[in-house]
Amino acid sequence: MSGTDMKLVVVGAAGRMGQTLIRTIHGMGGVRVFAAVERSGSAYIGRDAGEIAGLGPIGISITDQPLEAFVDAEGVLDFTSPSASVDFSALAAQARIVHVIGTTGCSDEDEARFKAAARHARIVKSGNMSLGVNLLGVLTQQAARALGPADWDIEILEMHHKHKVDAPSGTALLLGEAAAMGRAVSLTENSVRVRDGHTGARPAGTIGFATLRGGSVIGEHSVILAGEGEQVTLSHSATDRSIFARGAVTAALWARDKKPGFYSMLDVLGLS
Ligand code: NAD
Repeated sequence: MSGTDMKLVVVGAAGRMGQTLIRTIHGMGGVRVFAAVERSGSAYIGRDAGEIAGLGPIGISITDQPLEAFVDAEGVLDFTSPSASVDFSALAAQARIVHVIGTTGCSDEDEARFKAAARHARIVKSGNMSLGVNLLGVLTQQAARALGPADWDIEILEMHHKHKVDAPSGTALLLGEAAAMGRAVSLTENSVRVRDGHTGARPAGTIGFATLRGGSVIGEHSVILAGEGEQVTLSHSATDRSIFARGAVTAALWARDKKPGFYSMLDVLGLS
């Protein structure tokens, strides 16, 4: 451990991503676990964060007092719930630190709160923190631009584990936004999120979503561009949550010397 290591707080430390973040930070240089936070009433309060993550004790007890944890920290890594992330962004703004938000399923109102917090905090938010998916977004934008709506239909298919609570996934929406951007249209006005019953023929120019849930799948995404007599499929498979955790740590290190503002993984990865 060195004095220049970036001091990071993991919120939601007992969750699937929280535990992965603790293990990832522990195994990386240039960063250290400064504090670990869980929701009030969690059975994990007071337990050692490393032990919960399967590392053995690391001397960091899980707390339910985020403000105390943020005061002397440099960054917060947050894969929790929309309401928790909104609260954490206000605290990160107060402490004027980096807030990396991986939480998905956020409303437009939540997004407005993050943008307000970004006047003082350095916020990096993305529905997917992996290099592969962000590159897939760039490729999707190019493909959607090249293969126009008169002849090509775009469908986005995703599958995740059975515990996931929001749909379509943040990544599917990120890919939908990329496709909409490639076609210079609004995703909100052109997306078809569900189909059921007698739907009629597919309206040209729409971007369709299909959601599968089951088992322990970490994340499968395909963007299908379907034309007359041919089909192009761009896809990504996540087989290990550490890809998101490494992306989140990379984002925190990148944002360390940036001005307050609202950034995405495309900025971090130089793909914007
Ligand atoms: P999870 O349910 O396993 O973990 C969430 C944790 O947050 C839980 O331990 C919960 O107790 C904790 N939490 C909730 N409210 C809290 C609060 N107020 N204070 C402190 N802790 C609180 O879920 P998960 O699978 O780890 O996913 C979490 C989120 O991250 C989801 O929105 C998921 O879609 C998203 N996710 C994003 C990416 C990405 O790359 N952006 C990747 C994977 C998951």
